[in-house]
Amino acid sequence: MNKTLQMIRDYGHEQVAFFNNEKAGLKCIIAIHNTKLGPAVGGCRLYPYACEEDALFDVLRLSRGMSFKNAAAGMPLGGAKGVIIADPSQKTEALFEAYGECVESLGGRYFTAEDVNTTTQDMDWVMRKTKQVVGKATVSGDPSPFTAIGTFDGIRAAAKMLNGTDDLHGVKIGLQGLGHVGFDLAQQLVAAGADLTVATHSNRKNMEAMLALGAKELTDAELYKAELDILAPCALGATLNYETIPELRCRAVAGAANNQLLDEECGVMLKKRGILYAPDFIINGGGVINAGQEAYTVYDKENVLKQVHNIFNTVYDILDESQKTGEPEGVIAQRFAENRIKNGLNA
Ligand code: NAD
Repeated sequence: MNKTLQMIRDYGHEQVAFFNNEKAGLKCIIAIHNTKLGPAVGGCRLYPYACEEDALFDVLRLSRGMSFKNAAAGMPLGGAKGVIIADPSQKTEALFEAYGECVESLGGRYFTAEDVNTTTQDMDWVMRKTKQVVGKATVSGDPSPFTAIGTFDGIRAAAKMLNGTDDLHGVKIGLQGLGHVGFDLAQQLVAAGADLTVATHSNRKNMEAMLALGAKELTDAELYKAELDILAPCALGATLNYETIPELRCRAVAGAANNQLLDEECGVMLKKRGILYAPDFIINGGGVINAGQEAYTVYDKENVLKQVHNIFNTVYDILDESQKTGEPEGVIAQRFAENRIKNGLNA
């Protein structure tokens, strides 16, 4: 059996649908991993994959991740993802209308949303053909501020585990990436009295604003080696890898970036080095909590914020269990999500 078919079997996907619309130039795959807790929610990524195998591999991995993320966030939602195989410079209205028809054909089992290389404008075109869209500009809006709030709460939970208090005054935090989430988060950290150091590849304007507020600047390479209480990766994935982990001089890692660990072994390495790790799909769940609400109830910001703040408890409980059992935090987080998928949200 080939590798991807083996993955479908091993990951336990319910449905993997390939769509081909030559007139609209659409080639896409929608993978529904699990709908046991409710209809599946996950974004639509548009990417110029080198081949269909690569797209399939990505959509299988990402859709399973959404099942875990949605379950861990406590939402009555399953996990799925859509990928469109296309060049981002070739986006058209017809392409997204055709994608909307694909989503609609799944009969309510899948809600799509914006993701890498897709925007709320693209989703407006999708909505001409289906109502199965969340994260709408007119309803829940930009998810980044909610992701930043949840990450801030996760950082407080890590601080509590390290210092016995969630007070961030004087806590040395190194933040990587001053984009949509990172900049919001950096402002909250400074306001909470953290001793903040930042590294960024772009966003000079945001960096100047942070320097004016008393933050310090380091290069990326310097940030890994800096003596910190908490490192908060808020840029790209796979930054915790075989090269960086041996260099780290922080006591904990807690940040918003997706897929921070290069692989599972890196979680074991962090554990062996005694560095706490707030699992990414738990701490960065604020954005999906915000958008996901559109799929199962009337959107209510107060309610969203209540759920987002609960990230503090979830992160703290996972760090605590890891301290007690010696198991890597990522393993505990995945088991927590899988248990909810199997036995319900109150499990
Ligand atoms: P963004 O593109 O707005 O910001 C990322 C920033 O990181 C950019 O400014 C980029 O210049 C900078 N950067 C890239 N590589 C860097 C490096 N090596 N060192 C320092 N800076 C670097 O993205 P975002 O929306 O802020 O998301 C940040 C991360 O959080 C991503 O991994 C994303 O997948 C994840 N995430 C975001 C959300 C959300 O609501 N936006 C939700 C969940 C997870």
